[in-house]
Amino acid sequence: MFWDLYQHSQIRSNSQHADKALRAAERTAKQTESMHEKLESKIESLALTCQAMFEMLEARGGFTKEMLAEKMEEIDLRDGKLDGRMSPAKKSCVRCGRRTLKTRSNCLYCGGDCEPE
Ligand SMILES: [Zn+2]
Repeated sequence: MFWDLYQHSQIRSNSQHADKALRAAERTAKQTESMHEKLESKIESLALTCQAMFEMLEARGGFTKEMLAEKMEEIDLRDGKLDGRMSPAKKSCVRCGRRTLKTRSNCLYCGGDCEPE
């Protein structure tokens, strides 16, 4: 009898912990989805800006897609790696370990403090 009460108490406690963890996971998923949508929106806006800038330069004459590709490669190589991206200095998050831009004061993913690499 006493053992049964103890077991029920443990089951209830574990169930509450599981519910709490589930709610925390749902909150994190919503935050991640929101961040994803914001980033996607920024990327689309940047792509539109780049396209408009290139078309304006191309229309003025003297600029070609090959010149653009050459300049992109030159900029890409400034960090020593030809990887199709610019790699500005980054910091590591103390809490989750992810890397984030040096210009951010806290982690993009969890909000934790970041230390320069
Ligand atoms: Zn973090």
